[in-house]
Amino acid sequence: MSKEMFTIDQGVRQGGAFSADLYKIYINPLLNILSTSGLGGRVGNINCCAPTCADDVALVSNNPLELQTMINIALDFSKREGYLLQPTKSVIIPVKTCRKFYEIEDGFWKLNGKNMPIVSNASHIGIQKSDKNSAESTVNENIKKARRAMYSLMGTGLHGENGLDSKTSIALIRTYILPILTYGLEILLPKGKILNNISIQYKKWIKQILSLNSNVADSAVYTLSGLLPIEAEIHVKAINLFGNISRANCDSIEWRLAERQLQIKSHNSCSWFIEVKELCLKYEINDLYAYLTNPLSKFQWKKLVKSKIHDYWTSKITDESKGYSTLKFMDHKYNIGSVHPLAISVNANLKDIRKIPVRLKISTGNYILQTHKASFSKNNFISPTCKLCGKADETVEHFILLCEKLEETRIPLLSKILDNGSLILAKVATSFPIDLIQLIINPFCYVDINANRAVFEETSNILEPLCRQLLYNMHNKRYALLANIDKQGSRKSNF
Ligand SMILES: [Zn+2]
Repeated sequence: MSKEMFTIDQGVRQGGAFSADLYKIYINPLLNILSTSGLGGRVGNINCCAPTCADDVALVSNNPLELQTMINIALDFSKREGYLLQPTKSVIIPVKTCRKFYEIEDGFWKLNGKNMPIVSNASHIGIQKSDKNSAESTVNENIKKARRAMYSLMGTGLHGENGLDSKTSIALIRTYILPILTYGLEILLPKGKILNNISIQYKKWIKQILSLNSNVADSAVYTLSGLLPIEAEIHVKAINLFGNISRANCDSIEWRLAERQLQIKSHNSCSWFIEVKELCLKYEINDLYAYLTNPLSKFQWKKLVKSKIHDYWTSKITDESKGYSTLKFMDHKYNIGSVHPLAISVNANLKDIRKIPVRLKISTGNYILQTHKASFSKNNFISPTCKLCGKADETVEHFILLCEKLEETRIPLLSKILDNGSLILAKVATSFPIDLIQLIINPFCYVDINANRAVFEETSNILEPLCRQLLYNMHNKRYALLANIDKQGSRKSNF
């Protein structure tokens, strides 16, 4: 203890764990004054004129004069407490609604005698608020920030080929990129084109990490990465937020709003609570009002939401996957939360990681062979015949099993695959015949991790590395031969 006087300095520590709560205690009298003033926005008879997080206060009103009064209250409070309101950061956003729109005069609102800037975009608790479409501007902002985070992680090897193994890369995306990308979207619930934009960006990054072609089917992206579509991630966040509200105190504004909106509003309302109710119906979580009045515990609610949302997307993605002819070698086992075994190397060394992209391209039907080129070419004729041997059409079967020019590369590994494959697969009683090409392209089609763990382990430790090696060697040999043919071709045409 010291008997000397000390001056109280203003402020709380930037980013301190306690700061937000301390500040809330400090600012609370202002919020009380505002909410008891009867001014500003309300839903029904529930006053919600000043949504606030720490020092970020938004004043809501549909009456210009009322808004000025509220600004004055905030200003008086700041003078009394001795802090400054940032004149450049205090802005007015006119929001256009379908029912009402006020003509905005420049310089109508004043803060401390100075005109307040009228803007079309500003950020409140990190969410972009805009006069027309907050979802759109927040999504754009999130993509920008997430891209920056992606670039900063590239230094650690997050860039597909020659980088980190896919399991680590996917985990990095989940932990660092996804939260930035979906920030605030559980409130705004983007739809249509806006949702599509963010989804395209997300898929693009996953494809990049897994070194997949840009035109690979969406369901393959999700099956291989074990990630949920971004739409589902937003839904999880939104429904979990509702769970938080349901467990809140019955006097809290959020809980009272939930009660009112769920009771009064019809299903075509734009209320957030109704949108969440519709979402829940989609996932077969019925009667949201009952959950509000009789809330589940945090753990139970999260578990329920997770299982319902996972069930829905598992069957949706699996069905989609079955519809693609290019994915005929995939096993259509969408296991949310775990990377597909085809994309995992047992030893995370660079030599092994480098073999995965070719393997994934072949198993998702995206490895370009002569027959693909022929079917894509419309105007100028391209022959589907194998350029190496010139004896037959270059199909996947021809490339992997038949082409005689690749015979030398093929035989040593193929015999090992046959030996090990028959040994391992004999342990699972399969009634259906085993297709050699399917076995090479995706041996996991024949083993189920839940049915026989030991066989699954053997497949990924022994069989899969052999198949991967075979495809990698074949790919390199084919490329070397093709490069040779091209060289000879150009030499001939020069003469
Ligand atoms: Zn051939």
